Amino acid sequence: MEKIDILSLSLDELGDILAEKGEKKFRAKQIFQWLHVKRIFDFDEMTDISVQLRLRLKEIFCINRLFVQKKLESAIDNTVKYLYRLPDGNFVETVLMEYNYGHSICVSTQVGCKMGCRFCASAIAGYIRSLEPSEILMQIYETEKDAGVRVSGVVLMGIGEPLDNYDNVISFLGLLSDKNGNNLSLRHVSLSTCGIVPKIYELAELKLGLTLSVSLHSADNDRRSEIMPVNRTYNIDSLIEACRHYISKTGRRVTFEYAVIDNVNSSDEDADRLARLLRGINCHVNLIPVNKVKERNYRTARAGVAEFAKRLGRRGINATVRRTLGSDIEAACGQLRRDAAEHNGNGGAEN
Ligand code: SAH
Repeated sequence: MEKIDILSLSLDELGDILAEKGEKKFRAKQIFQWLHVKRIFDFDEMTDISVQLRLRLKEIFCINRLFVQKKLESAIDNTVKYLYRLPDGNFVETVLMEYNYGHSICVSTQVGCKMGCRFCASAIAGYIRSLEPSEILMQIYETEKDAGVRVSGVVLMGIGEPLDNYDNVISFLGLLSDKNGNNLSLRHVSLSTCGIVPKIYELAELKLGLTLSVSLHSADNDRRSEIMPVNRTYNIDSLIEACRHYISKTGRRVTFEYAVIDNVNSSDEDADRLARLLRGINCHVNLIPVNKVKERNYRTARAGVAEFAKRLGRRGINATVRRTLGSDIEAACGQLRRDAAEHNGNGGAEN
């Protein structure tokens, strides 16, 4: 019988399985805290649990750890990028960033991505599978262990489309914020999506308190469809409608991500269009200089982002420019995994 991935289970689910197997349900909390508070990933080290029960636990459950395959540390700003090997030999990337208020971590939600955004390295390496809740969570636990820090913020902006792995991402968020476990408020979490409209409506119903970030990148349908194929299914009007719904349902401001790309989306006319689209919406615009991806020719002129921010400002839209971190270690998502995949010639799995 295949063992159950214990780190993907909520406290209730763990209790139910223990009861099903004839064990005492109240043990669940004790085990849950060993895993999620004390971060002990070996049943033999759970010393207040009887030897007999520990043996049973080992028969029923597995504790899936991640392994550091590669680690790059920025000499400029202490950003650390991890390439993690998953139990099945696939790879994902995680980035630890240092700010003056603490550490923030960027996690992946899938091995690769189906969305095919033209400017994104994750799309180039291809899609393999979605991550389990434990595989998203363990990127945080393993990084905290390795770096000796506690993160105070989490962004779901690594490889993958979180809303294309909806159920596992929601389970992950439950584990991340569980009061009996890791206990991180979802106020400190951002979820970034390319705009899977029906899932934005579903997410709104949950009123989780996290920040929804929407990768917009163009306010023109033809242009957006060109660079983001998802726009052919869910166009800008339907996306903005979903965002308005999300804002009114949750009372939370939405962030729009906009990578400023020369000759694609950074003209005066583009600024006009964006300002018109977002006028009156409780939102924030985050401008990103596009990260160079070697297979593509997209670039941002040095002065391009600041200039575009000014153009938006003159049109009454406040925009901030995202700080570039880890520029010396290719911290942009998808680049390490793509290189590992190229090296192995098989899309990321070891064999
Ligand atoms: N799939 C999700 C989250 C992962 S990407 C999404 O699309 O939002 C995280 C952010 O990085 C997105 O805003 C994405 O559009 C952006 N991004 C991807 N490749 C980039 C690049 N080469 N330069 C700048 N931003 C990029």
